[in-house]
Formats: sequence, structure tokens, C-alpha cells
Amino acid sequence: MAARSRAHPYARLMLELRPNCECCDRDLALDDPTVVICSFECTWCADCAAALASICPNCGGGLVPRPIRPAGKLAANPPSSRRVFTAGLHERHLALR
Ligand SMILES: [Zn+2]
Ligand SMILES: [Zn+2]
Repeated sequence: MAARSRAHPYARLMLELRPNCECCDRDLALDDPTVVICSFECTWCADCAAALASICPNCGGGLVPRPIRPAGKLAANPPSSRRVFTAGLHERHLALR
């Protein structure tokens, strides 16, 4: 890298960019434009978002595409490695379909 890598000034406020879908626990790529989040950053894959009718089952809020962090910013502003998974959620919402 040409410039010295520095954390973004708002790094403390940045999205976690969680590594998995909270519902089905599949791994989500950081650059996958089909991943969606709610305002609390509950994070869902496209399949689960469709099954959830784009409403977050945790908070009732809407789901929007997760922004993609530019690759050059990831080293200094790394994504979360903390997996958030709600056991049983998948079965619950599948049963509602
Ligand atoms: Zn999923
Ligand atoms: Zn939510």
C-alpha cells in the first residue's frame, strides 16, 4: 500500500460487518451485495431475507443492502469475527411460510 494504513476517524462507530447470517449461520462474503442488515446490524443472507419478507425478526425493522467496505480500508478497519446466530430462528420463520 502506498499510503500508511490508518483507521477511519469514525472507526468506533463503523459497522461490524458480521461474518455470518444470523438465521442460517452460513458464511457471508464482505463483498456480497445481496447481504442485508437492519438498523441494529442484524445480518441476513438473501435467502433468509426473502423468507423474512425483508423485516428483521429481532427488532421489526426493515432490511437494506449492507454497504461494501472498500478493500483498501479493511486492513485498518477490520470486520467483526464474532458470529451472531440465533438458534431455532430458521425453523421458526420457515414454519411461518
Ligand atoms: Zn441465512
Ligand atoms: Zn434487527
